[in-house]
Amino acid sequence: MATNRPTANIHSFESLATLDGAGVRYGIFFVGCPFRCVYCHNPDTWTGEGQRFTVDELAKKVVRYKPYFGKDGGVTLSGGEVLVQSAFVAAFEKRMKKEGIGVVLDTSGSVTLTKDVKAAIDGAETVILDLKFWDDEHYRKYCGGGISTVLDTLEYCEQKNVPVWIRTVIVPGINDKEECIDKYADIVRGHKCVKRYQLLAFHTMGFSKYEKLGIKNPLEGTPAMDRKRLDQLTSYLESKEIVNND
Ligand code: SF4
Repeated sequence: MATNRPTANIHSFESLATLDGAGVRYGIFFVGCPFRCVYCHNPDTWTGEGQRFTVDELAKKVVRYKPYFGKDGGVTLSGGEVLVQSAFVAAFEKRMKKEGIGVVLDTSGSVTLTKDVKAAIDGAETVILDLKFWDDEHYRKYCGGGISTVLDTLEYCEQKNVPVWIRTVIVPGINDKEECIDKYADIVRGHKCVKRYQLLAFHTMGFSKYEKLGIKNPLEGTPAMDRKRLDQLTSYLESKEIVNND
């Protein structure tokens, strides 16, 4: 029987991951992204038709894992860009709330703050926000979109007191200098909502996907980020004490 219940376009799932948010988490990856970051390791999530799920169907999948979540765990919605499907996300969060399961949103901040996007942010227990570069010029050059929606997302979380974890991928030769960290810190400083700021190492594990999809890989030949150098930059960032641990 045909129904008009809203559905989400889902790329894939990851059961019991520990990286994207606190505790043990069930990861759901949504299809669609307005950005085209040169270092994207999930180009297969950008467009297309994945699996369709209603709120009930998706909730059923997550609820099975509830016994594993413990006190801190839950579900992490990622992509692609999860907020492209914000109306569904807001409805799904309401359902998760009824089930007593916390939702973390993992977003690039690439989506305009519409009513639905705001509702989706309001329903999250934490927002993981990528801060990819420090100005519009670099965003346009390396991500194919501007910085304004990213800054708007951060300001909205600050206003609404939604806890934020910031993440930045560090790529050799692009943003691996102390002066880049200074610029990131200038943006984040003064935001009480920011509870963590993590630098991530660029890696080459997604390269084979570009080949498979027949898409030109803009960073072909770029090496993975050196771990020691990443640790140095992380210590440098930490020395700035911009994260609010209250
Ligand atoms: S925002 Fe994320 S999914 Fe979208 S292109 Fe950038 S890295 Fe890829």
